[in-house]
Amino acid sequence: MTKEEKQLKLSEIAKKIAATKGGPFGPELNPVPGEGSPDAEILFIGEGPGFHEDRQSRPFVGVSGQLLRRTMAENGFNEKDVFITNIVKFRPPENRDPTPEEIEYFRPFLDDQIKIINPKIIVTLGRFSMYKFLGQGVSITKIHGNPKKVDDFLIFPMFHPAAALRDPRVMQEFKDDFKKLKKILKQVQDDTIKQYELF
Ligand code: URA
Repeated sequence: MTKEEKQLKLSEIAKKIAATKGGPFGPELNPVPGEGSPDAEILFIGEGPGFHEDRQSRPFVGVSGQLLRRTMAENGFNEKDVFITNIVKFRPPENRDPTPEEIEYFRPFLDDQIKIINPKIIVTLGRFSMYKFLGQGVSITKIHGNPKKVDDFLIFPMFHPAAALRDPRVMQEFKDDFKKLKKILKQVQDDTIKQYELF
């Protein structure tokens, strides 16, 4: 698929998401389908939009988004070369955790986005996107920063930036994991990833 074809398909998904008018969350909300390059090598998946994301219809534009985007830039990632999205595509009421039914409602949209973008690495930010690929039995404290091959994708679990903002130790881990991500991307690009210890 060319970049233009991918862009077209991603726009169609964004329209379908908008057409759900909030789905299980109700009609007062703005869709936040995600943004970035259709050819992204890295796909970041968070939990769900918050207040600012709803206002602007863009993912990760509030305080935790600023941390994510700043850390990305500090490590030489270009925002245009990644794609950023969420497990659920509208803001959950009072920013509560999404329920399994709500996650399931939006799953086909996310799965289609993943298929179209076909990234080299999927970075999960926080528990909910990590569970999607690694199951509920894993502890983020134990496995963050360790890549794992799942189907055709390399999954790289990270703490959610909001958790980093709450705890200085998590902040350090968050920053260290970003440095690791940069190394792993280089290894994936050079096809030397096998030297990396996968769990
Ligand atoms: N937190 C998320 O998980 N996603 C966003 O888009 C913003 C904050």
